[in-house]
Amino acid sequence: MAVEVELTLEEAAFGVEKEITFKAQGTCETCEGVGTTDPASIKSCPDCGGQGRVRTVRRTILGQFMQTAPCVRCRATGKVIESPCEACHGDGRVFMERAVTVQIPAGIDAGQRIRVSGRGGAGERSARAGDLYVRVRVAEHDLFERRGDDILFGVDLTMVQAAVGTTMTIPTLDGDEEMEFPAGTQPGDVKVLRGKGIQHLNGHGRGDQEIHVRVLVPHGLDEQQRRLLQEFDEACGAEHYGDREEGVLQKLRNWLSG
Ligand SMILES: [Zn+2]
Ligand SMILES: [Zn+2]
Repeated sequence: MAVEVELTLEEAAFGVEKEITFKAQGTCETCEGVGTTDPASIKSCPDCGGQGRVRTVRRTILGQFMQTAPCVRCRATGKVIESPCEACHGDGRVFMERAVTVQIPAGIDAGQRIRVSGRGGAGERSARAGDLYVRVRVAEHDLFERRGDDILFGVDLTMVQAAVGTTMTIPTLDGDEEMEFPAGTQPGDVKVLRGKGIQHLNGHGRGDQEIHVRVLVPHGLDEQQRRLLQEFDEACGAEHYGDREEGVLQKLRNWLSG
């Protein structure tokens, strides 16, 4: 049987031990899975003589054919219970709330499954329990986007911060980190923090964190602010803007490689 578990991005990145509760067939405690509290009432099935299969005759225009089919009365077990357990009606199992502790490995991603051997629903009359499959979901993160084992983060710089350079506090999976953005930082620039991404599943090392730069342009300027910028623009020649064509192309390349 399968159950779902939702993890945070941090739990998926570093691994976690999770207790998962779910409803499943469990061995009946009243009869310990036997199906009756009176073992003497277990008898050989009269319909199939304890064989679990019955013979039927099929008549066709070509003649008679003998067939065997699973016995319906004893559900092919060959046994019937005359006084079945009241708790499980002879089934040997009942639905119950169950809990299992699962070790979620670091690096797991949404949609992947973890198999927990023998922790699924109990089999009929003490038959071996099936496996439990835990399917992973990962909740959306407030700050980060996951791409493979890399973490993507967007940072907003004002036009002036981008032009003159600044230091920003960047959140990572391991806590805040100071990062310098040099003078002349462009929109779409990407900085990389190596090894700050997600642990490679069943492997060594971690992915990276990419910091994608967005540059904010001011709006709603008053007269004085507008005049200051216009004065600046007159003082600032085209050489300070670099090659515009190249800028557009670089943006396109960043987008394509992203
Ligand atoms: Zn029972
Ligand atoms: Zn039978």
